[in-house]
Amino acid sequence: MSEKPKLAIYWAASCGGCEIAVVNLHEKILAVDAALDLMFCPCLMDTKKSDIEALPDRVIAITLFNGALRSEENVEMARLLRRKSRLLLAFGSCANGGCIPALANFTTRDELLKTVYIDSPSLDNPAAIIPSATSAFPEGDLHLPALLGRVKHLAQEVEVDYSIPGCPPESHQIWNVIETILSGDLPPRGSTIGCGTLTVCDDCERTKADKRISAFRRNYEFYPDPQACLLEQGLLCMGIATRNGCGAPCTKANMPCSGCYGAPEGVSDQGARMVAALGSVMDIGDTAGLSEDEIAGRVDAFLATIPDYAGLFYKYTLASSILGGRIGRRG
Ligand code: SF4
Ligand code: SF4
Repeated sequence: MSEKPKLAIYWAASCGGCEIAVVNLHEKILAVDAALDLMFCPCLMDTKKSDIEALPDRVIAITLFNGALRSEENVEMARLLRRKSRLLLAFGSCANGGCIPALANFTTRDELLKTVYIDSPSLDNPAAIIPSATSAFPEGDLHLPALLGRVKHLAQEVEVDYSIPGCPPESHQIWNVIETILSGDLPPRGSTIGCGTLTVCDDCERTKADKRISAFRRNYEFYPDPQACLLEQGLLCMGIATRNGCGAPCTKANMPCSGCYGAPEGVSDQGARMVAALGSVMDIGDTAGLSEDEIAGRVDAFLATIPDYAGLFYKYTLASSILGGRIGRRG
């Protein structure tokens, strides 16, 4: 057995993008391999759950856990890897805030299953079968991990040592984190690492002027000025409410930041921060002499240019947001 510290990379409810970000370390992968013994990574290796169960507790030095918790299996693996790991890192947006899987929390598990297995227009399911946790067959019962009622992020089930944001985390930041861990010079437990403490706007090199926006436009409607702030051009750029550290690759490519690094340091709800920021840049024109109803009409017309508030403002953080918690309490 290798004497090197053990590294595990696990995916729960995720897309595989976090694993691709690890592969994008390119030749630094060799340095990772030289320093660590990658011994568990389901998308690469056929290590069984029973192999992990058989390990002594805390024998894995580092587990990068990506993905949200959507099923009982995800929770079981989170608890198992917590027990077996000295450092458990929430790796990427799904593990930190639920990300896209958590948008399902705007509906119920039953509605979700109905949409996917009954109502989907491309589906051929004449018997209207919805998979269940237990199905009886002549050969015996078949068991599948049950879906949780709600999508959770990792820290809602187990203690997390560090968080690495990003959808996926930028590869240079993954390398920074690995180097930091190997050096032993770690920040206090519970810190968010592999990122900055400011906002994407602070790293964005675009020209910023006085932000006044009278309506939002969608990306497909025009070709934005490549030098000027995208928000000022009417694109819903989340940079103002997003933690920095990625290097602003999206705005460099003339695309608005969609917010994947989550809330900046000290902000508990990214969506609320963005709504507050928009309130201060909203331009509804000269309202002198207008009635309250007329002003409200202008505000409504402005808000109508924002498509899908929830999907835009909480794309990456619904499970960890104040709003997400409130939906949870309603059931
Ligand atoms: Fe850059 Fe977007 Fe911030 Fe404007 S709002 S400065 S485009 S990150
Ligand atoms: Fe993520 Fe925004 Fe950075 Fe793009 S610019 S990588 S969406 S945080």
